[in-house]
Parts: sequence; C-alpha cells; structure tokens
Amino acid sequence: MEWNELLIRYGEISLKGRNRNVFVKKLRNNIKKALSDLPTVALKSERDRMFLFADDKRDMDEAIVRLPHIFGIQSFSPVAKCEATLDAIKAKALDVIGAGETAGKTFKVEIRRTDKSFPLETGELQQEIAAHVLKSFPELIVQMRKPEVLLHVEIRSEGAFLTAKVHKGAAGMPVGSNGHSLLMLSGGIDSPVAGYLMMKRGVSIDAIHFASPPFTSEMSKKKVMDLAEKLSSFGAAVRLHIIPFTEIQQTIVSQVPDNVSMTTTRRLMLQIADQVREEIGALAIVTGESLGQVASQTLESLTAINAVTATPILRPLIASDKLDIIEIAQKIGTYDISIQPYEDCCTIFSPSNPKTKPKLEKVMHYESFTDFAPMLEEAVQNRITVDLPLQQVDEFDDLL
Ligand code: ATP
Ligand code: MG
Repeated sequence: MEWNELLIRYGEISLKGRNRNVFVKKLRNNIKKALSDLPTVALKSERDRMFLFADDKRDMDEAIVRLPHIFGIQSFSPVAKCEATLDAIKAKALDVIGAGETAGKTFKVEIRRTDKSFPLETGELQQEIAAHVLKSFPELIVQMRKPEVLLHVEIRSEGAFLTAKVHKGAAGMPVGSNGHSLLMLSGGIDSPVAGYLMMKRGVSIDAIHFASPPFTSEMSKKKVMDLAEKLSSFGAAVRLHIIPFTEIQQTIVSQVPDNVSMTTTRRLMLQIADQVREEIGALAIVTGESLGQVASQTLESLTAINAVTATPILRPLIASDKLDIIEIAQKIGTYDISIQPYEDCCTIFSPSNPKTKPKLEKVMHYESFTDFAPMLEEAVQNRITVDLPLQQVDEFDDLL
C-alpha cells in the first residue's frame, strides 16, 4: 500500500500557550532526528497535529516503524489521498481497508467535508462507500459505536484523504521539552527504569555511575554502558560520566562506623553527582529509589542522604512495586542487562547491618573527622565520559 502522508496527533491537550509551542517544536526536531537517515521525509506542523510526507515508499514504511517509539506522539495514521470523486474514493477505500486487518472486525465509515461543493450528501456518501467496502470485505460487521475499523474520509478542495488504522504512539512528552537532568545509574533494575520514565516525561538525561575498580569489574562497567546505550534509544543521546570511587569508598570503610557507612556513601555520591550536575547545567538529579526497598530507602535514610543538597531529587519509582518496575524493565529491554551478575560498588562495600533509621547529626559527626572535599573534587575531575549517540530502535516494538 502506498501512503501519501502520515497524520500525527499530539497528546497533552492541556498544554497551553508557550508550552505548546515548545512541545511542538521539540517534537518536530526529535522526529527529524529519529528519521534523519531517511532522505525523502518532510514534516509540516500545525497547532494540534503534524503531517509527515515521504516520496520514497521505503522511507514512509520505515517512518511507520519508528514513530511508535517517539515520546510526545499520542497516535498516528497513514493517510491515502485521491481525487475527490465518488469512484476514486470508493477504489481508494478498498486499498485502505485491505491494508489492515478485517477478519471479524467492527466497521464504520465517517465523512468530514470541508469542500461543500461535493455533489452527494454526507449520509448518502457514507452509505455508498460502506456498501462498496462491505461487498469486498463481507466479514466486516457494521457498528456505529466504537468500531474497530473506522474509515475516515475527509473531503477537501485539494482532494479526498482516507485513513483507517490508528497506530498507538508512545505518549508522554518530547524528550528535551522538560529540561535536562542527571540520572544516577547503577547496574541494577531500578535506575534505568527511572531514567526511561523521566525521558518519557520529556526530560533529557546525562547519566552518572560510580565504579570502584578493581572491586568492581570491567564487565560491570560494560553493563552500565549497555544500559546507557539502551536509554539512548528513547529519543536522545545520553552522556555517561563514570566516577572513580574506589579511594572514597575505602576511606569511608576505614573512617566511618559500619552501620552508617551506607548513608555516608550515598551522601558522598550525591555530592559528587551534584557537582557534575552543576557543571553540565542540569537542573535535577534522578534516582531509582523506591520507598522501603532497602535500608537506604527508608524516609529516615532518604532524609539523611538528601541533606547534602537543595537540588531537586526526582524519584519516579518512589511509590512503585518491584514487580511493576520489573515489568517496565522487561518492556524497555533493560531487564536482561540489569540481571547480569556483575556487582556494583554499593553491593561490594555494603555493611551487614546498615541502619534503617540513621540520625543525621550522628552521620555528620562521624563524617566530620575526615576531609572528604578534596577527594570529591578529584573524583569529579577524573571522571571518564562516554557518549552514547541516539540509537535507532528496532527490537522492542512491544513498548506500549
Ligand atoms: P538500582 O536497581 O537502580 O540499583 P537498588 O534498588 O539497587 O536500585 P540502591 O542500590 O539502594 O537501590 O540504589 C538506589 C539508587 O542509588 C539507584 O537507583 C541509583 O539511582 C543510585 N545508585 C546506586 N548505586 C549507584 C552507582 N554505583 N552508580 C550510580 N548510581 C547509583
Ligand atoms: Mg543497586
């Protein structure tokens, strides 16, 4: 089937004024980037919808494969165009219906005419087209309310435009339309999901990872790079900052009592993350924390950890159940990477009896005997950055 254009519908109808302009501009840019290797693609944006054209059929087909992965698109439909005559519309209607599934589906024809000069009345036209389609596809069942196949025919002065299939979009907001944040990315299951959810909410991300070689292996670093790469397939390139954390962790173990070392570790990580955040001009820090999951994720722990900065810490998973998080991880393709066995720095150095209710004054008291500041600065300066360019999606089309 040769489609003439794609009609792209936006979500977030509540967006108003300038926000809407930012949204549409960003979405247009993101679509352009995601399709930049398809030379004949062109876009036209309107206030509440966008049209995509492609002279080459292969470009059009590939665009249909990629659009469901771009955040900010609510749905889209391939559109076929023909002359605005009854015969031409009837013939095109068969092509359009034939391109989708028909077996046992409910069906309705809907007409919209902005060209009032068309000879037939809307009702007549609707009946003529429906009867013609049903002759070729007798398995369709006519149903006026919520049909599965809705053949929409729009008659304008420049021709007739037909759509039948509505492809579901990834929804959310265009990546980058809601600013930039720094994701604390461990090798675990939760933080990649947290990053994905923020990207879906329109936030572009850099990622930061703390590595403690030789206690953490090259393989665990590779795992984190694979996770960051996976995230870069959701509409924007990701820059990964790898922080050398060994010296700091050893210092914590030797200077701070066992039962608060976890809290101190998190506090120092957050301070480093905050410095990197400031350098890269990001506004917030994202973590995969989920309330009550482990000792470091009680409200008391979060309070003691959070006390090192006034920067907003975004925790999109704070109220999610583990099973729900796992389900998303599986859908977005990070789960299989996350469950590889390589340990990250926190697991290796974690004490056997971390306090679930650390007292901030105590933690600060124990930390006060060591001057961590120069170590933190050195770690920030000695970080390694890895750029993961925007990935083209192919394998996870079950995203929705
Ligand atoms: P995850 O599955 O994301 O590792 P978790 O349930 O294992 O989370 P923790 O290990 O307590 O929980 O980590 C809480 C959060 O702290 C993580 O979601 C992540 O955002 C951050 N974090 C933990 N370890 C690291 C690390 N080595 N590098 C960067 N961030 C980390
Ligand atoms: Mg973890």
